[in-house]
Amino acid sequence: MIILRTVPELRTFIHDWQHQGQTIGLVPTMGYLHDGHLSLIDHTKPNCDRLIVSIFVNPTQFAPGEDLDRYPRNFERDEKLVADHGAHAIFYPDSKEMYSDGFRTFVIVEGLGNVLCGRTRPTHFRGVTTIVAKLFHLTRCDVAAFGQKDYQQTLLIRRMAEDLNFDVQILVCPTVREADGLAMSSRNSYLSPEERGRAPILYNTLIKGQQLCLAGENDAGKIKQEMKKMAKTIPGVSVDYLEVVDANDLRTLQKITGPAVLAGAVWVGSTRLIDNVIIGA
Ligand code: AMP
Repeated sequence: MIILRTVPELRTFIHDWQHQGQTIGLVPTMGYLHDGHLSLIDHTKPNCDRLIVSIFVNPTQFAPGEDLDRYPRNFERDEKLVADHGAHAIFYPDSKEMYSDGFRTFVIVEGLGNVLCGRTRPTHFRGVTTIVAKLFHLTRCDVAAFGQKDYQQTLLIRRMAEDLNFDVQILVCPTVREADGLAMSSRNSYLSPEERGRAPILYNTLIKGQQLCLAGENDAGKIKQEMKKMAKTIPGVSVDYLEVVDANDLRTLQKITGPAVLAGAVWVGSTRLIDNVIIGA
């Protein structure tokens, strides 16, 4: 497996692979890999000839005061995991490689990035779509994988790929969870043992909402109310949002009449966790 640190190095390999008629798969990550990331590699591998995993803690998707500096990193461990899962290359640039002095071009998907997580993190998604557009462009990938755990992100990326004519097949892979239901996340490493014990409340709350739907409840207000009531039972946990939205455009729903997503973000101590479940898709 090769490690590519610069854009020219990456371009050389992409050029050669394309010249040989090989298809390219991309798994974009911020590293500190867990089984969720590795499942994306496993899903993508059979769909391409050459698989690139990018590891880049993307500064533009963090606002000032967020956790950019303390975001967990362990490249040696990541490198071994990626190699064990059969990827062909890691693209591991530094910030300057991706954002040269004077950088001022962003990709913004109107309307989808200012709801749910975008309310609390208003500049987050423009950072995500910008870096993913750059990676699509640089790797000229035929297929790229993203996790359902970041449902809003998957919708934005699908929209961006369609709108900017990226000829990329987008795979959305199921959320990988710990045994107690907590969605795997690099940020789970911030949790103290006590907070870790409380963290499954988010998934349990979403499951409660899902059960209400399955039992025939379609009043989104009632479902939200029940979910919020449940989340409040755990000390040290505060709700950022718990929403019932249309699965296609993230519109807040009053009544569930088609595919919907129960999406939530909670603070467990100072750690913000997100998760979602899809209803009726
Ligand atoms: P990150 O490194 O957190 O930016 O995540 C990189 C990719 O892995 C994104 O497409 C995420 O949605 C995906 N991902 C993160 N956590 C999980 C998980 N628990 N299950 C599946 N995919 C995940």
